[in-house]
Amino acid sequence: MHEVGMMQSILERAVERAKQEGAHHIDGVHMRVGAASGVVPDSLEFAFEIAKKGTIAEDARLETELVPVVCYCANCQLEFQPTDLLYECPECHQPNCEVKQGQEFELAFLDVS
Ligand SMILES: [Zn+2]
Repeated sequence: MHEVGMMQSILERAVERAKQEGAHHIDGVHMRVGAASGVVPDSLEFAFEIAKKGTIAEDARLETELVPVVCYCANCQLEFQPTDLLYECPECHQPNCEVKQGQEFELAFLDVS
C-alpha cells in the first residue's frame, strides 16, 4: 500500500500549511489526482483514513478531483486525450506521446478552521 506513504507526505504538507495560516483544524483536504498517476481512488480514501489519525486533520474529509490525461504529439503539435494506454497520436499514430497532464498527485487546497 504505497498510497499510505504518499498520503502521509501530502498530509504533512497540509498540516504545515494549515499551521502557517494559524489554523487549528483541517476540515477538508482537496486533491488533484491524475488519471495516469497510478493511484486508485478507493485505496486513496483508505490511506487517508490511516494517515490522518492523530493529526489536526483527523476529522477532515477527502475530496479528489480526477484530472484527465492529455497528451502532446511533437510531430503534429497536437494536444489530445488518449483513448488507450498507448498514448497514440490520432493524426500520425505515433505511440507514447508526451503526457502533459494526468500524472498529478498533489494538494489543491484546504478547508481549515
Ligand atoms: Zn502526431
